[in-house]
Amino acid sequence: MNWIYKQPVEIFFGCGEINRIFDLVKGYNAPLIVCSPYFVRSGLAENLKAEIKNAGIFSNVSPNPDIREVNECSEVLRQNKNDIIIALGGGSVIDLAKAASLKLNDIREVWGTGKDVTAEPVPIIAVPTTAGTGSEVTCVSVLTDRKTDRKMPLSSEKLYPKQAVVDPELLHSLPPHITASSGIDVLCHAVEGFWSKNHQPVCDTLALKAAKLILKYLPTAYKEPDNKNAREKTAEASLLAGLAFNLPKTTASHACSFPLTSIYSIPHGEACGLTLDYFVRINGEGEHTKELIKELGYKNANEFADKIYRLKKETGLRTGLADLNLSDEAVTRLVELSHHPNLYNNPVEITDDILFDMYNKLRKE
Ligand code: NAD
Repeated sequence: MNWIYKQPVEIFFGCGEINRIFDLVKGYNAPLIVCSPYFVRSGLAENLKAEIKNAGIFSNVSPNPDIREVNECSEVLRQNKNDIIIALGGGSVIDLAKAASLKLNDIREVWGTGKDVTAEPVPIIAVPTTAGTGSEVTCVSVLTDRKTDRKMPLSSEKLYPKQAVVDPELLHSLPPHITASSGIDVLCHAVEGFWSKNHQPVCDTLALKAAKLILKYLPTAYKEPDNKNAREKTAEASLLAGLAFNLPKTTASHACSFPLTSIYSIPHGEACGLTLDYFVRINGEGEHTKELIKELGYKNANEFADKIYRLKKETGLRTGLADLNLSDEAVTRLVELSHHPNLYNNPVEITDDILFDMYNKLRKE
């Protein structure tokens, strides 16, 4: 087996590390803080701005960021001649910052085209505030075109942040439902990164550790938002899972999540987690996946899938789609739109029959 491992992002981890930003921006002339409106309301963005010379704030970022928001941020970067971005937020903020950092007139010049990204980005200091996406160490930016319901990733070496500042204290303000939704995304990254067709030993090792941590600490972080240890361990799991899936890429659960989010507004992590136990049962007979299941301490795929189902119940995540009253046509559309490139990265071939079976089970639950 031949493989490559590469990770260019400098990582700072630990409580209080947010203050590291002040050192990291030294030498830059015009920093832009990109954040979600939540951090304007909480006062954190203004506090940072007050301490950083010439800093500006861009906060028009919604969950699952729209390409128009990216273009608006690019315009701000061009006009203000910003030379460093501080991306303070969850995956949505970090992904928007990555795409905007290219300063294109319209991100559709590259997003959804398969063309190589050649623009030189404004460097990014990524400060994740959810334990979920791992976007702070990945070369991916997931964007949505709300006019066409299309959600898909843009992937390029140019999209790696320069630095990641992971401060678990930033997670304490997360409401339980976002803790759960982003937390199950961590489990998906770990499991999918491990069984991906492109898996390799370094990423496997990271994936296994990340999966163990998130299975152990997510329920506590959900029930006790101020539990320091649980928040720290979920932040660690998220970072490791980001490193674990970045190169191998995700698989069937992520492929199916994109239409579930863009059509039915199911939060990203919750949409990924919805199908994870189903795909554990499908992929569970492969030798490599069996190794994961065994290392995690489960006897077989069914036992691990049942554990994931219970974890979703315990953390208030959806386990079905019955509330959406999906018609036959809606199920057919979901099957069609699940044929995203990540589906072909799954270790077992996912046929339309499998997808129909899965969505028909989910629509009744
Ligand atoms: P998010 O960034 O969409 O945030 C969800 C909500 O939580 C927002 O309303 C936000 O304001 C709020 N929030 C964030 N941090 C908070 C905090 N500390 N306290 C209170 N509220 C807070 O959620 P996410 O799950 O981190 O990101 C999801 C997005 O990331 C999706 O678009 C998904 O496709 C993408 N994603 C990207 C990658 C990648 O590698 N680039 C990987 C996985 C997912």
